[in-house]
Amino acid sequence: MKHKLIYTTAIAGLLLASCGETASTDESVVATDSTTVVEQTENFNYVDETFGDIQMLRYQINGFDNLSLKQQKLVYYLYEAGVSGRDMIWDQNYRHNLSIRTALESIVNKYNGDKTSQDWADFMEYTKRVWFSNGIHHHYSMEKFKPSFSKDYLASLLKESNTELITEAFDVIFNDKDSKRVSLDESKDLLLGSATNFYQADITEADFEKYYASVIDKSDSRPVEHGLNSKLVKAEDGTVSEMVYKVGGLYNNAIVEVVKWLELAQGVAENDEQGKALGLLVEYYKTGDLKKWSEFNIVWSQATKGDIDYIQGFVEVYGDPMGMRGSYESIVQIKDFEASGRMKTLADNVQWFEDNSSIMDAHKKPNVVGVTYNVVNVAGEAGDSSPSTPIGVNLPNSDWIRTVHGSKAVSLGNIVEAYSQSGGEGMLEEFAHDQEEIDRAKAHGELASKLHTAMHEVIGHASGLINEGVGTPKETLKNFSSTLEEARADLVALYFLMDTKLVDLGLMESLEVGKAEYDSYIRNGMMAQMRRLEPGANLEEAHMRNRQIVASWAFEKGTKENVIEKVERDGKTYFEIHDYVKLKAIFGDLLMLIQRIKSEGDYEAGKALVYGYGVYVDKAIHAQVITRSEVLNIPPYNGMLNPILTAVKDEEGNITTITVVQPENFESQMLGYSKNYGFLK
Ligand SMILES: [Zn+2]
Repeated sequence: MKHKLIYTTAIAGLLLASCGETASTDESVVATDSTTVVEQTENFNYVDETFGDIQMLRYQINGFDNLSLKQQKLVYYLYEAGVSGRDMIWDQNYRHNLSIRTALESIVNKYNGDKTSQDWADFMEYTKRVWFSNGIHHHYSMEKFKPSFSKDYLASLLKESNTELITEAFDVIFNDKDSKRVSLDESKDLLLGSATNFYQADITEADFEKYYASVIDKSDSRPVEHGLNSKLVKAEDGTVSEMVYKVGGLYNNAIVEVVKWLELAQGVAENDEQGKALGLLVEYYKTGDLKKWSEFNIVWSQATKGDIDYIQGFVEVYGDPMGMRGSYESIVQIKDFEASGRMKTLADNVQWFEDNSSIMDAHKKPNVVGVTYNVVNVAGEAGDSSPSTPIGVNLPNSDWIRTVHGSKAVSLGNIVEAYSQSGGEGMLEEFAHDQEEIDRAKAHGELASKLHTAMHEVIGHASGLINEGVGTPKETLKNFSSTLEEARADLVALYFLMDTKLVDLGLMESLEVGKAEYDSYIRNGMMAQMRRLEPGANLEEAHMRNRQIVASWAFEKGTKENVIEKVERDGKTYFEIHDYVKLKAIFGDLLMLIQRIKSEGDYEAGKALVYGYGVYVDKAIHAQVITRSEVLNIPPYNGMLNPILTAVKDEEGNITTITVVQPENFESQMLGYSKNYGFLK
């Protein structure tokens, strides 16, 4: 996946990888459907309900209060535009999705029979999975779900709730038809094998090839994103054509609403570039002209001055087996003021860190420049980005626009924050050595992890000089270069996390934050991360390798002085840090060593380090970690509930405040969306 960063094993733990309902259609009414609202709080509970293989999470819109009312209106209008297009993704994913969703929701709303039975529990689980995937196919595997209840049971629910569902849609819930939304099995016709509604059901690959051979000019060096905003259809006489998503075209009723809100957003734009981009997006939706989409992307790529940004449109093409048609999505973003502040402080002091690093003087940069990156907080997601969400996005997708006009890469800070809590307290309580460690993690873990990430990027990757005449790490350290580079950047962060300089700079209140990060790093590198590794496997992924190198090297070097103790208790292993100051010095020694390897391009030493500490896992501990974490039953996939934004108006109809509250639960959010934004039902 090129432009969308998904939360996976590979990046768990190094999350900010730059090295990589509202209540009503009437915006003036305050939440009516949600009887209970959960306010934004300090002790925020990120982890919500679990169903199927899904763990739902919540996020907060950090920084919303820092915005002016005009900016809050902009966020609100963009958010409304986003959810107004929600039904489009349902129809794009599969032609019966909207009618199935409508029937399931009618049952949820109207059925008054026995809700204590296993059948009802199975029905609700199925419904939640459908909500989660924006349709009846799994959001990740693309396979159609198999319900655990019978045809007869669903038929009885439909009857008792006076709900209609056409026979073909009813049957498809249970039969083997349309079993895969996107099939990449090239032994079969990709289009006939895929249930996606980007193509009329009888369109074949041959129809596709023939049509596009006549439409695409291959000599065009600045092509539009052909097919991005249309469904390919075939008439009875065999003529193939596109039905374009636009005002007056396919999905008119939803797009008219999206446009209405985008025009309001344009009226409160923060600056000219942002306003111009929104204007072009509106024109594109009105005309369906892909040249306008290109123009929009050019202006959007360069509109970087405001505090608010957004992704809106038919963007990513993973849902199309031919990689052409865009799934509708919306992400509204607010600059992460806290992360930006942290990065600025670090960048302003980057030379101090370089001068005081544990690396050899010859390897220090005389004029080091910090590496900064863009972190935003999500204010609302819809379509392809919701409830399953990326953690980072890099757009636009058009290669020539990226080359000529640039691109924007962002890390979604508050989503990453929620993900980092997805293991819940279970993992912490299972693997922490004692209550003190648990308490420290709860008090300081979140800041510790954010600081680690910022230091890793801003001062870590920026640090160090390669000796004159030595090639780039890719040339000298070859396949070990990224593992060693990530280890080096982690070590810069770890080394300074136990330095009072961070307290002096106001980045943390005390060294307890540094201790929390040391605890977490050792716990993860020595044990917890193996949860994601298959039995019998070696470590392959660069970040996992690097974390084990750092943790196990430090453990070994500190054995004599009992810096980190391996504790066996009731058949379980724990690692307890006894001396944080000595551990800092050990991290410093390893940093010096890895910097030397990089500066000198010492391939053999790099290889020895990676193979000595980063490839093979302790099989007994690995087995133990799998057993201990399986009991915790943490689902493999996560999704997000969206906070609810509501406009409060005065008697003249002017917006006076935008309120932010948490939805009651997943069910109420989904029912509320369908009720208030069901423009294609
Ligand atoms: Zn990195």
